[in-house]
Amino acid sequence: MAQIDDLPPLREVIAEHGLDARKSLGQNFLLDLNLTSRIARSAGDLSDCTVIEVGPGPGGLTRALLAAGAKKVIAIEKDRRCLPALFEIAEHYKGMLEVIEGDALKCNPADFADGSVKIIANLPYNVGTQLLLGWLTTDEWPPFWDSLTLMFQKEVGQRIVSDTGDKAYGRLGVLANWRCHTDILFDLNPKAFTPPPKVTSAVVQLHPREKPLACPLKALAQVTAHAFGQRRKMLRASLKSLKPDAEARIEAAGLKPTSRAEEIDVTGFIALAHSFNRD
Ligand code: SAM
Repeated sequence: MAQIDDLPPLREVIAEHGLDARKSLGQNFLLDLNLTSRIARSAGDLSDCTVIEVGPGPGGLTRALLAAGAKKVIAIEKDRRCLPALFEIAEHYKGMLEVIEGDALKCNPADFADGSVKIIANLPYNVGTQLLLGWLTTDEWPPFWDSLTLMFQKEVGQRIVSDTGDKAYGRLGVLANWRCHTDILFDLNPKAFTPPPKVTSAVVQLHPREKPLACPLKALAQVTAHAFGQRRKMLRASLKSLKPDAEARIEAAGLKPTSRAEEIDVTGFIALAHSFNRD
């Protein structure tokens, strides 16, 4: 691919700033501009929205987002070694990139939200699921973000888009698909990263459902944790410890106590959450 900007190649940036990748920070950098540009493009038109990027690292995806015409990028990075490289990008794209040094788990991106927001990130694998859960469980719905375009380990991506009958179907699939439309857009070979991770990655996209069925979130978390925690067991056994009259509550939800978690679709889990939430 032709250059996307006049900034130095990423390998030079990494060498100049001594950004040797640290496993503890989930650092697998994406240096291929074709791929960073593909991720940026897959998030749609960015010209009228604020992009929140978690973990910009040396700035490969950040540069692709800006080159793709993002109105504004807010990049949250925990590793302060990356900041000088990011400030160089901010200098090049004056007023369009705001760099925030910090732990994305501890800051609330809703505080930075201004108008339409898209979250786009090659997430650090060690905290990716936790971040996603935070974005999926906001009190307000529709949430502050319009879409999430996120890179995960493929296995996590499969759990996010999973449905009944899929091997990967579990708590994450129920939660994600209750509130969002979910898709895996494409896979990335480990060789695309520096250093290469052990597994294939996937870019996943989530769009909030406008009116997901009302559901008590805490009860949904409880019933899915118990049901999938013992997924081979029938619901009457796996949910027994939640309430003494579990079997009656399962029936009140319109489900068979002899069913197993993997057979219950999202609507079924929502009915269970309501049923187990009652006094
Ligand atoms: N975006 C870059 C790319 O695509 O090459 C780097 C992606 S790398 C997989 C993950 C990045 O997240 C690293 O730069 C790492 O330092 C950063 N990171 C790790 N934990 C973080 C956290 N809790 N908050 C913010 N950034 C974090």
